[in-house]
Amino acid sequence: MRAFIRKPRQFLQSYADRLCTICGHEGRFLDVGPRPEARCPNCSSKERDRITGLFLRRSGLDLGDKAVLHFSPERPFFRLWRNNPRYVAGDVKISKVANAVVDITDIRFDDGHFDYLICHHILEHVPEDARGMRECFRVLKPGGTALFSVPLDQERAETWEPPADMPAAEIERICGWDHVRLYGRDFPDKLAAAGFTVSEITFTAEEGERHRLTEKHSLAPQGLDRIFVCTK
Ligand SMILES: [Zn+2]
Repeated sequence: MRAFIRKPRQFLQSYADRLCTICGHEGRFLDVGPRPEARCPNCSSKERDRITGLFLRRSGLDLGDKAVLHFSPERPFFRLWRNNPRYVAGDVKISKVANAVVDITDIRFDDGHFDYLICHHILEHVPEDARGMRECFRVLKPGGTALFSVPLDQERAETWEPPADMPAAEIERICGWDHVRLYGRDFPDKLAAAGFTVSEITFTAEEGERHRLTEKHSLAPQGLDRIFVCTK
């Protein structure tokens, strides 16, 4: 209903049948701001969430009974896993979608505690990101899997770190609100440096369309959120 009030015209246009990789809903997806058909009307998943969903589905993984550390959880996953007593939904403060306070640079769990770790769009806010990645590696079980993504500038070979004396306002102007650096194509190398074996979730153009996995709007020309699969 809210989507109808916000943008009634989307319901008059023809649309493709989409399939949500998280809840299995099939049918019309809803527009989110400038992003056509970005949201699943059933579970509210967005493009990036459905890439994670695709990975879980393909791998036949059910995280419902595993030890999972999920940073600043995406709502559809939080709803799926919140009743799992071994699910730690960590954030800087407790909220509707966070059941624990967790500092990624000082994770208060034993070595090898978690089977899975999910960390989407967190590290760009963390001044000591290398330390954060090492902490994630430490708390993951040998054989465990971690998913990472950040806003990644494909045009940039190397990550840009602001000089130490740069004023905060200038950093924010360059990196965007609350971000402390601009990641480049070397992001997976940073994960490897923390100890992980790194690969990437890939999908066909057809899968991209069927599940709407890439953002289609002018602000994100490539529209692709790259998610890295890290094993220990
Ligand atoms: Zn859904």
